Amino acid sequence: MTTFSFEFFPPKTPAGERRLWNAVRKVEALRPDFVSVTYGAGGSSRDRTVALTRRIAAETTLRPAAHLTAVGHSVAELRHIIGSYADAGITDVLALRGDPPGDPRGPWTPHPRGFTHAYELVELLRSLGDFTIGVAAFPEGHPRSADPRSDLRHFVAKCRAGADYAITQMFFRVEDYLRLRDRVAAAGCDIPIIPEIMPATDVRQIRRFAELSAATFPEDLAHRLEAARDDPAASHRVGVEHAVAMADRLLTEGAPGLHYITLNRSTAALDIHRTIHTSRSLSVH
Ligand code: FAD
Repeated sequence: MTTFSFEFFPPKTPAGERRLWNAVRKVEALRPDFVSVTYGAGGSSRDRTVALTRRIAAETTLRPAAHLTAVGHSVAELRHIIGSYADAGITDVLALRGDPPGDPRGPWTPHPRGFTHAYELVELLRSLGDFTIGVAAFPEGHPRSADPRSDLRHFVAKCRAGADYAITQMFFRVEDYLRLRDRVAAAGCDIPIIPEIMPATDVRQIRRFAELSAATFPEDLAHRLEAARDDPAASHRVGVEHAVAMADRLLTEGAPGLHYITLNRSTAALDIHRTIHTSRSLSVH
């Protein structure tokens, strides 16, 4: 079965809230397998993640998966957050280490009574109940990994700790995904690795995201987007076409699903989704 899912983030403003809920309702009509809600770097954005995830669970027919990171949390705090999700009937959690707040590329310092790596959060979730646990995967390797072999070993440790599936970091070259998937399978880990689909419809924004996540942004795509830079409709078309071509090839190569980044705007993600479904005659369940 091929899964389809969408990612949202907790908005900061009333206008952002309206845009988000407009996107949530459109996505809901498609009956995706799940939607995920990202976890902020600290403070109030984290409370908003918890509140939004609980609201999606309570007020929609969607199945929300809560992202959760170890950044700045003691194990006791993580237990408390996980418990509050379980109380609300939310049993899907994406277990992440997170990045250092302020400078995502800076040195990682764990909370003195917290975790150093994501596999520990996976173990905690496994010990606390019947959770469906997702983890992060990096088609081009985690930017701070010493080498590809240790990167693979640490990913496999998350499988062994009890992860049920993985979602990738954004990427723009299908080969990077296939290489990761094959290396993981050869290492004896058979969890589904769901590719994340990032619609590249705004060249400035996408360059910033790609830089932050260290994803290679193909020059030919960059050129096409640069050429359409002052024409939003043309930029949209270029980004959607590239994502559709990638998604189509990923599914042909056996990817277990697609996880769309929405940026809380449904348009590009839904255009990609509809095109893929129409061209492949897949049914949404
Ligand atoms: P880990 O698996 O712990 O890996 C981090 C680094 O440590 C890697 O280099 C790994 O190789 C290394 N490592 C792992 N285990 C060991 C070990 N035992 N010994 C030595 N080294 C080890 N961030 C947010 O803040 N909020 C979000 O909502 C969010 N959502 C995300 C969703 C997806 C799909 C992805 C791919 C990333 C997301 N991130 C999010 C970013 C993520 O938190 C960062 O990329 C972070 O740097 C890595 O997280 P991880 O869970 O892969 O960590």
